[in-house]
Amino acid sequence: MSERNETRGRRRFLGLAGIAAAGFAVPHLASAQARLEESDAQAQPLGYRHDTTKVDKAKFPKHSAEQNCANCQLFQAKAGDAWGGCPIFGAKQVNAKGWCSAWVKKA
Ligand code: SF4
Repeated sequence: MSERNETRGRRRFLGLAGIAAAGFAVPHLASAQARLEESDAQAQPLGYRHDTTKVDKAKFPKHSAEQNCANCQLFQAKAGDAWGGCPIFGAKQVNAKGWCSAWVKKA
């Protein structure tokens, strides 16, 4: 093998190693994302609960138990994921079974 071919081979290997490393890094970062706490200063005004059945009915009379993050337009996760992103709460994840008063029916 010529020196030129060896260099090409080394570059190709490093490129593939970089792609593989990126593929492993992304799920790791996603799973490390912080989860929203019900006690969080942002969560309380919107009545966020990890469990939609625990929502305060007196404070949120329009809420129904069929409404949850998994069927909210704003929920960002794959089908079946237990936790996912929500633009209302920035970088923190919300529970798929949760709810807040910004709930919007998924189209
Ligand atoms: Fe859940 Fe939707 Fe409220 Fe976000 S806006 S916390 S996805 S109900």
